[in-house]
Amino acid sequence: MRILAYDYKFEAITTPMTNLKNMGTHDSLGLTITICTSMLRQHQESTVFHEIIESVNWQLGLGLSEQKILALEVGIYNTLHNAGVDLDPLMKELDRQSGRKE
Ligand SMILES: [Zn+2]
Repeated sequence: MRILAYDYKFEAITTPMTNLKNMGTHDSLGLTITICTSMLRQHQESTVFHEIIESVNWQLGLGLSEQKILALEVGIYNTLHNAGVDLDPLMKELDRQSGRKE
């Protein structure tokens, strides 16, 4: 997925990383976004948003705190979700890796 200037790879994992709360990570050196796909679909989508915001924050040097990134994630994701916006194209790569059927 292209996010501003960089092409990121998505990586699906089935168990959360070290910290149980860590359901997704953004690696700016390896240009990889890792998402735990064993959680509910909505949580996966919201976590993808979180990591996109992390990427923009890093690339543009916005200096947003984790708390502000979380607020943006929830605000933007919930708005799109409640409006019924189809986010499947955003999840395509993760779905392929986790074997989710269309
Ligand atoms: Zn974060």
